[in-house]
Amino acid sequence: MRVIVAEDIGFCFGVQRALQMVNSKVESHERIYTLGEVVHNKSVIKSLEQKGVRVIQDQIPHDAKSSVLVIRAHGVPKNQLEELRKVFKIVVDTTCPIVMKLFITAERMHRQGYKIIVFGKKNHPEMQALSGYVQDATITTDPVVLSTKTCILSQTTMSVKEFRKFVEKSIEISSFKELKIMNTICHVTAKRESQVEEIAHQSDLVIVLGGKNSSNTSKLAKIASQITRTVHIEEPSEIDEFDLSDIKTVGIVTGTSTPQEDVKILTEKILIRREKE
Ligand code: SF4
Repeated sequence: MRVIVAEDIGFCFGVQRALQMVNSKVESHERIYTLGEVVHNKSVIKSLEQKGVRVIQDQIPHDAKSSVLVIRAHGVPKNQLEELRKVFKIVVDTTCPIVMKLFITAERMHRQGYKIIVFGKKNHPEMQALSGYVQDATITTDPVVLSTKTCILSQTTMSVKEFRKFVEKSIEISSFKELKIMNTICHVTAKRESQVEEIAHQSDLVIVLGGKNSSNTSKLAKIASQITRTVHIEEPSEIDEFDLSDIKTVGIVTGTSTPQEDVKILTEKILIRREKE
């Protein structure tokens, strides 16, 4: 059996940066809360919990005044950030610079009089945060009829191909005077998107390793499954449940919140099975 591992695996720099920021606070022995899971990965969350880092959703803990709150890479609405700064002793904002660039761009274009359309999933935390920057932004994955002065942007983790289709279809059904299209998709996820396509064409099976609640990981699984047999697992041990006896070439890809170490474990597991079969 041949094993092809994608060129880009493991954490993206945005996740790496967020984890470094959390860990530096762990070292200073502060009480730390994260607003939602800082990484879509169970083992990483578990190891942070062992260091005393707690995940909260909406509730304000009783010891907020003496605690640190970490905002994850997806960001939060601007006014929520201001409110949280009043409540917690310290707020560490790990919003990824690429995500922040999207928020600022949307805000700037809106100020210049553009109607803002964002190709994205309304319930995704990044899009909920964006709504705090441009309250009347339209966030959708369905093509929209464009009005006179419109700016189209994208959630950072969406598929480049799907974004293109969305723009083309929206143009097709509209008549408009002025349109700005800004590709705000993160280059890290865009690169992984083209790599998974390439690998899927060479593989009998693609293993997508990473959180099922991770938007960019689910995107990779969707792309691969349109080309070849695909399994999406969250932990390397889950591969034990799959029969690989008829597989000649297996491809391995990961989302941006999967530790590189997990890829090593998965690859070793597959190679050991190959030797036994
Ligand atoms: S996937 Fe891209 S936008 Fe998202 S955190 Fe990573 S680097 Fe930032």
